[in-house]
Amino acid sequence: MRYWGYFTAKLAGAAATLYGLLLLIDSIWPAEKNPPLIAPLRDGPELLGYNLLMMGWFLMCVGAVVLIVHDQRRRCRICLRRLRMPIETGSWGRMLFLGRPRIEYICPYGHGTLKEEELQISGREAPVWTPNSDDLWDDLCASSKESDKES
Ligand SMILES: [Zn+2]
Repeated sequence: MRYWGYFTAKLAGAAATLYGLLLLIDSIWPAEKNPPLIAPLRDGPELLGYNLLMMGWFLMCVGAVVLIVHDQRRRCRICLRRLRMPIETGSWGRMLFLGRPRIEYICPYGHGTLKEEELQISGREAPVWTPNSDDLWDDLCASSKESDKES
């Protein structure tokens, strides 16, 4: 819940900033009260400048959303810190032994691991978040428990 709240807050902050910028642009170039049906040629350069400015504003909106989504994907789902220490695992040459190549990021406080496929062959695959258990000894003793069951 906190994860999505942070995402929503970032989107709302960007929307408020960009809307303020839009109001500033609107105060510089106010809309005509009674615009003609066909755009007049007399204001061509001014209209071109206005349209280029609006295109730049639109690109800023798209860029802000892309940056927010990219930043949010690389955050811990619990503490919201940026995930660190990317490790490449797997190998195409030894795929049956090591698995497909992927990049794993971990939370610096050990809350979980994000596994992202290195190559998106069959469409875009969502990265997999695996939370770690709260008890450190569970993860450390898991391998010995499995070996006890086998014997
Ligand atoms: Zn964390």
